[in-house]
Amino acid sequence: MSIIIERFKKIKSNIDEIRPKKKVKIIAISKTFDLDHIKPLIDHGHEHFGENKVQEAIAKWKEIKNLRQNLKLHMVGKLQSNKAKNAVEIFDYIHSLDNQKLVDILSKCQKNTNKQLKYFIQVNIGNELQKSGISVSELDSFYTYCTQEIKLNVIGLMIIPPNDEQTTKYFKSIEEINNSLALNELSMGMSADYLEAIKYSATFVRIGSSIFGSRS
Ligand SMILES: *Cc1c(COP(=O)(O)O)cnc(C)c1O
Repeated sequence: MSIIIERFKKIKSNIDEIRPKKKVKIIAISKTFDLDHIKPLIDHGHEHFGENKVQEAIAKWKEIKNLRQNLKLHMVGKLQSNKAKNAVEIFDYIHSLDNQKLVDILSKCQKNTNKQLKYFIQVNIGNELQKSGISVSELDSFYTYCTQEIKLNVIGLMIIPPNDEQTTKYFKSIEEINNSLALNELSMGMSADYLEAIKYSATFVRIGSSIFGSRS
């Protein structure tokens, strides 16, 4: 068996042990790896994959997505408005809604296609200058704008918590906020912290290096 499938199965069983009844989805983050490297997991039947750059995603996924319509592609990186049109074409989920200009353009691009994407609002939970995301204080109005004014299908919140010792605190806090907005999905947890994230109701974990190996 491919080492990638072995690692994937181990992660899946780790998750099932903690959350036996919940459907936690694993997004296999394949950024920087080429399709040959990813292919075993596609052939294994896995459906959710993630990328953080629009051009890379198109080059890698366009052809195979046409052949395998079950594949779901997630945009987990910062999205520039000028790439919105291409993003709507290749991705099924966008995890990085973080400003009004972007959502306006996404909504327009989406209307020109038959596609209905699913969206997450990225929240800058640690108020970090170097990270994107809506601040907690602006979240209510941004959420209302996305869902009421322009009617994007926002299914949950997404965070990349600060790289400090308090990850649990951020998970707990975003879980409460997600619940207060009555959102069903929550995108958090990466290779290092996904087991902690699912204890706080993560429904989509984004796992790269623990599946595909370290990125050069
Ligand atoms: C790269 C990336 C991941 C995966 O990180 P790993 O530590 O390799 O699991 C998850 N989320 C985002 C937003 C990423 O850019």
